[in-house]
Amino acid sequence: MKTLVDKLCLKHTLSAEEYRSLLLCEDADTNAYLQEKARQTTIARFGNAVYIRGLIEISNRCRNNCLYCGIRKSNTMVSRYSLSRETILSCCREGYALGFRTFVLQGGEDLSQTDDWITDTVSTIKHEFPDCAITLSLGEKSLATYQRFFEAGATRYLLRHETFNEAHYRELHPSEMNRDHRLLCLEWLKIIGYQTGTGIMVGSPGQTIDHLVEDIQFIERFQPEMIGIGPFIPHADTPFGNEPAGSIEMTLKLISIFRLMHPSALIPSTTALATLSPDGRERGILAGANVVMPNLSPSSVRKQYALYDNKASFGSESAEGLKLLEEQLNEIGYKISYLRGDFVSSNHCHSEEL
Ligand code: SAM
Repeated sequence: MKTLVDKLCLKHTLSAEEYRSLLLCEDADTNAYLQEKARQTTIARFGNAVYIRGLIEISNRCRNNCLYCGIRKSNTMVSRYSLSRETILSCCREGYALGFRTFVLQGGEDLSQTDDWITDTVSTIKHEFPDCAITLSLGEKSLATYQRFFEAGATRYLLRHETFNEAHYRELHPSEMNRDHRLLCLEWLKIIGYQTGTGIMVGSPGQTIDHLVEDIQFIERFQPEMIGIGPFIPHADTPFGNEPAGSIEMTLKLISIFRLMHPSALIPSTTALATLSPDGRERGILAGANVVMPNLSPSSVRKQYALYDNKASFGSESAEGLKLLEEQLNEIGYKISYLRGDFVSSNHCHSEEL
């Protein structure tokens, strides 16, 4: 089985059957070898520096009803909020002073935050912080809207495809949503020129190994600049409230596979991983991730952006806990990079960062 790891490391691709065998492999030596190769690949490409992104959860209102998500429209237990532009700007100011040079604006598909309003918010942030990157993660929009956000100054967009398999997509989403439209949005983002991120939840209800192979092969073809992989975690007030959480081991394995498949990708060690295990974030880094996204949202609303139960948002998951994060990273031989950390393709060297 280790020869498969070597092959992936060398060729950056495997056949569907080979990916399947690797995903099913429970041999501890092989899995440790996979992680080691992924870690070496990350270090060769980025050194021991981990990029930080300040995550601002701008709204928990959402017109969608994704069955897994705690802020789905039908969840009447949620106390809803939409941040004002001034509040978002003060989060950016606080983040800038702490050293953040990327702001990620994430939220539900909130119709009260209109496309005009988001465009103006992006330009205002860009104007005040011209040296910062703005990432959006606001769901599905039209091509023209994505274009306007880009022209206003957003250069990165995160939109997980969630699952490539069409039947599985239908199990996770209401009938108004469809996989092909999600994939079309991803194509648009790429065409416009965004550094585009996609990804999946690991262990979402109904997910099989074959679905994961389809996801891997989609990501291999699509070549996103960013790959977001986190375990599914149930939220009590959703239809999937009694489903088990995804596996940490499988999440780590996928991070390593994606690192070997796409050495220059920006791969976060996600909050969901840190929520499931106290050392989850460090384990993600040791499996090949190279980004963390501390929470910069006002502390008064953090609990309301509950995508799943017990979501971590304080301590080293928070922007104000950066020192703690730094210490935790130092303990495993890594350090925070305060650079913007744009995607740079394999043909270029990260000389300033190494
Ligand atoms: N509305 C935007 C979108 O659809 O991309 C961004 C916000 S959405 C809440 C961000 C991500 O949260 C989703 O892509 C999904 O993968 C993740 N998520 C939602 N519910 C989750 C859960 N129960 N467990 C783990 N991740 C979850």
